[in-house]
Amino acid sequence: MRDKDLYAQILGIKSPWRVSSVELALSEGEVTVHVEQEAGTTQCCPTCGRESPGYDSRTRRWRHLDTCQYKTILVADVPRVTCKEHGVVTVFVPWAEPGSGFTAMFEALVIDWLKEASISAVSRLMGLSWNAIDGIMQRAVKRGLSRRKALSVTQIGVDETAFKKRHDYVTIVSDQQTGTVLHVGSDRKKGTLKAWYESLTQAQREAIETVSMDMWPAFINATLASVPGAQEKIAFDKFHVAKYLGEAVDKVRRQEHKALMSEGYEDLKGSKYDWLYNPKNMTHEQKRRFKVLRESTLKTARAWAIKEMAMSLWHYVSKTWASKGWQQWLSWAMRSRLEPIKEVAKTIKTHLWGILNAIVLKVSNGPAEGLNSRIKMIKVRSRGFRNKARFANAIYFHLGGLDLYPQGVVR
Ligand SMILES: [Zn+2]
Repeated sequence: MRDKDLYAQILGIKSPWRVSSVELALSEGEVTVHVEQEAGTTQCCPTCGRESPGYDSRTRRWRHLDTCQYKTILVADVPRVTCKEHGVVTVFVPWAEPGSGFTAMFEALVIDWLKEASISAVSRLMGLSWNAIDGIMQRAVKRGLSRRKALSVTQIGVDETAFKKRHDYVTIVSDQQTGTVLHVGSDRKKGTLKAWYESLTQAQREAIETVSMDMWPAFINATLASVPGAQEKIAFDKFHVAKYLGEAVDKVRRQEHKALMSEGYEDLKGSKYDWLYNPKNMTHEQKRRFKVLRESTLKTARAWAIKEMAMSLWHYVSKTWASKGWQQWLSWAMRSRLEPIKEVAKTIKTHLWGILNAIVLKVSNGPAEGLNSRIKMIKVRSRGFRNKARFANAIYFHLGGLDLYPQGVVR
């Protein structure tokens, strides 16, 4: 078999295209495969498919999968045609998507690697610049989003995730059933989430049964304004409530520890994580020590008991009984004389309606929490993002559940 035929087969070049020559540059470790159209090929407009007369041609290059460790470049003169309707347009080539300097198979391989490894590893391994990789990721996400079927989601989660600095956030809307990201909003404002809701049809908005979220006014107001019956659908999940109470317990501990230390007592020294973590995960010795602490008359022990009581109020089936349980808890918390606990209790009191929704609708934040830790991984693996658009793109790429591959490449 001659080298031209061999390359035609390896590269999957088919009529009306054929390999015209193969050049091997040993010192550069590069193979250049020249491809041309067979003489007399009829040309068609890529937009409407109408047979059109040739205009001129342009020489284009694409990087393809390496062959035997050699960087492999495809070169072809690509005709431009004059379509009656669409003017002068470049015809399609079967091996690459318009505007890409890589063949479809090469892009698919980069996509596969990006799913497994960091951007810097892929850059090193494939000899690609970050900009080239970014282009491949952007095209992949654009394809994926355009192929996505009309949304039909019933259980969604709305959460925020930090971008770079502490106070710079994006909004993540996820499908609680599949754990995929539906939308990345550029900040965490009401208008941003509202705009997403408004991109849905009335029927899609009505189909939403639960919206799990933090007690964040922008998310609450956007949802109340856009989702029919939202008052019964918004659910403040256990995870977020636990987070606020955990922070309150820690505040009480810090204040009390400071006061005790000033009098020379070290009762709370080194106990920070005992109060934050589940006793189930402690060693025998830690458990013994913590038992003594939590049965003490310390304020921190009282704060912790109040938090634990709140955590036990999520098993109710009826809203009436759940409401009674929480009312009792609220009166205990408000009489606790522990300011940080009282603060959270006030927040819980005004948001109790959504906590009761979460309880009776059995909404958990599990899927969103899983997403959050995966988003953190994406940030670590890419060592930060230059801008939010790239960050959003990476989230869609890894967590959007999208079909990312170029047309014709099946995985
Ligand atoms: Zn046309």
